[in-house]
Amino acid sequence: MPRFRQILDTMAAYKAGKAVVAPDGRSYKLSSNESPYDPLPSVVEAIAEAAREINRYPDPGSVKLTEAIAERFGVPFDHVALGAGSVTVAQQLFEAVGEPGAEVVYAWRSFEAYPLLADLAGVTSVTVPLAGEDHDLDAMAAAINERTRMVFLCNPNNPTSTAIRRDGLESFLARVPEDVLVVIDEAYHEYVRDEDVPDGLTLYRDRPNVCVLRTFSKAYGLAGLRVGYLIAPEPVATAVRKTIIPFAVNALAQVAAIASLKAEDELLERVERVVKERTRVREALIAQGWTVPPTEANFVWLRLGERTLDFAAACATEGVAVRPFQPEGVRVSIGTPEANDAFLAAAQAFRR
Ligand SMILES: *Cc1c(COP(=O)(O)O)cnc(C)c1O
Repeated sequence: MPRFRQILDTMAAYKAGKAVVAPDGRSYKLSSNESPYDPLPSVVEAIAEAAREINRYPDPGSVKLTEAIAERFGVPFDHVALGAGSVTVAQQLFEAVGEPGAEVVYAWRSFEAYPLLADLAGVTSVTVPLAGEDHDLDAMAAAINERTRMVFLCNPNNPTSTAIRRDGLESFLARVPEDVLVVIDEAYHEYVRDEDVPDGLTLYRDRPNVCVLRTFSKAYGLAGLRVGYLIAPEPVATAVRKTIIPFAVNALAQVAAIASLKAEDELLERVERVVKERTRVREALIAQGWTVPPTEANFVWLRLGERTLDFAAACATEGVAVRPFQPEGVRVSIGTPEANDAFLAAAQAFRR
């Protein structure tokens, strides 16, 4: 028997959102925070065109996409680092700063990938319980010590949907030593409407230890292609670029992301529709008697405690897949109006 790393026995596997089908055939996948819309024709066309050349390796430096991102966000080219989805960029960050004995601080519950990536990198997770549904920034600052290499802030937080506001974030950043990297994971940035929630790009420029993680998977609807990016001070982006697996960002993902930036107005119009549905869903849930934290993302959070799995099962009988985190709560993505109605009906039935 070959010998494996011990961590593989204890590490929690990543559980992806599943689809479910009701007895009558209806199926609504509200378990992975994906865009509910089909890809834009212009994006599909760009992919089809690029498919003619898939006998060739992709551009390993993703130069055109890096240029497009730099131009779109008004940042220097060398502040951008790409990866095969922002989860992989996060893994590259661990590769860049992590080593045995190092610690990473993040809130819990937060994005499921953080503990997994820390374990894989041999980095020790220091988790700081949420205060209610929010990051407890004072406790997080207090958790930083000489072993801390990195802090993840998930803003807005997956799965609790709340966001850290500017004042809190700025005073937190002022308390973090400069040799500790702060990663602001903004996977849901495009859905933020609270004006007091800062755009991480306004915070990273004059702070050498702050960076921003973004993705094409959610608002831009490219979850299936795997492409995400980091915007960071040049030394951070350079370190992260060094840790990429050669050719990780495939050729179709590169062209699709460029085409998506070109079609951004159309995509952001879809985001706006999701934001409107989010308001409708949250208000309907509150009218049903649920407690629903404010949401700045494309999902809502119900803290159901021990009833979490029962609720998920009740939704499944209506063909609605949600994401249970037993015994804490359920995360439900905002989908099309029809899918949202099916979810609201299941939630209403559960209360009776
Ligand atoms: C969905 C998500 C990501 C993005 O994952 P990709 O690898 O880019 O698909 C990153 N961070 C958080 C918090 C997420 O919820």
